[in-house]
Amino acid sequence: MPKFPELELSESKTLEINTVAVAKRQTGETVYNLSAGEAYIDLDPNIESAIARAVAEGKTKYPPVAGIPELRSAACDWVNKAFRGNYNPGQCLVTPGGKMALFYLFQSFLKPGDEVIIISPYWVSYPVMIKLFGGKPVILERQADEAWHFDPAQLEKLVTPKTRLIVINNGANPSGVLYTQDEIDAVFKIVKKHDLFLISDEVYSGLAYDDDFRSFADFPEVTKNVVIVQSCSKNFAMTGLRVGFAFADKKIIELMAKLQSQSTSGAATIMQYAALAAVLNWEKIIPGINEELKARRDLFFNELKTKLNQEHTPSQAGLYAFLNLDKLTGSKEKDSDRFCLKLINEANVASVPGSAFGKSDFVRFSYGATKQKITGAVAALAKFIS
Ligand code: GLU
Repeated sequence: MPKFPELELSESKTLEINTVAVAKRQTGETVYNLSAGEAYIDLDPNIESAIARAVAEGKTKYPPVAGIPELRSAACDWVNKAFRGNYNPGQCLVTPGGKMALFYLFQSFLKPGDEVIIISPYWVSYPVMIKLFGGKPVILERQADEAWHFDPAQLEKLVTPKTRLIVINNGANPSGVLYTQDEIDAVFKIVKKHDLFLISDEVYSGLAYDDDFRSFADFPEVTKNVVIVQSCSKNFAMTGLRVGFAFADKKIIELMAKLQSQSTSGAATIMQYAALAAVLNWEKIIPGINEELKARRDLFFNELKTKLNQEHTPSQAGLYAFLNLDKLTGSKEKDSDRFCLKLINEANVASVPGSAFGKSDFVRFSYGATKQKITGAVAALAKFIS
């Protein structure tokens, strides 16, 4: 009997609970799926017709590994215009989702023992990917009572000779914090001073609600120290189409493209045409998505007020409400894993335990669900808690 693989790897909790919710729904039950971060918003008609056109034109063969040239160019135009960047197509890689861009990056940069600074609460897959490639996540713990913002001096204290990367996710998943200009400027200074690389995960750039999103793209000579990860998933409500981007120095992009050529071969050709229609129309599509998700965010937090009589601070960006479990349950439950499991099994509301993000006393709800589902979910939640 040959030995089975022994890689120790946990499944992504955001997707694990989503799978449970989807399976439950398939049995005919009404499920309120507020787990995975995706906006239940129809595809923009330009994107839909681009897919139909790509099929009709037989765009079903392998794409160029780094992405179709039109898309690399249009994606640069988007980032350059929206965030005053200065990228050219050779500095852009099209990937099957932003997640794969992150995967290639950690694989490219990390050697065993390298340290990567991330901020807690962090997106579930950062520490897992870092460890997968021998790296060590070094965590800057942030707290809800500081609205999840951070003191750059505290971040700098974590820098050691082994630090290889810093990861910043602005419009952070799951906390919903939108970092200020001062925070972003300070991080860039730290990165420059210590000659480090920064991965700026900007996949929620279009979903900043109360203030402007600040990208790293407009710093001078940004490609020397920064890689920007972008995606169509959240900004254009295209989660299932799987198209993302990395913007970086040409040499980094070339290395990532080699990894891509040896692994996924790139994002699906038809979906690259869909992404092209999205980024060409970003000025029309993103404001509409932002407006709708802002309304859903407001609805979710208002429903908490009216149905649970609870005042939680609304998220500034992104798709998530990250709620303190103690407050939510009136100190009845402190374990987020147990809470989320009971909530899906007994009330058909899917959420994600804060433990997935390094905060086991919190729970995450995605308000990307439809308004009807949000209202139903909070009603079911209120009943469950009482
Ligand atoms: N990023 C989303 C989330 O956190 C999608 C699922 C995933 O890739 O983790 O829910």
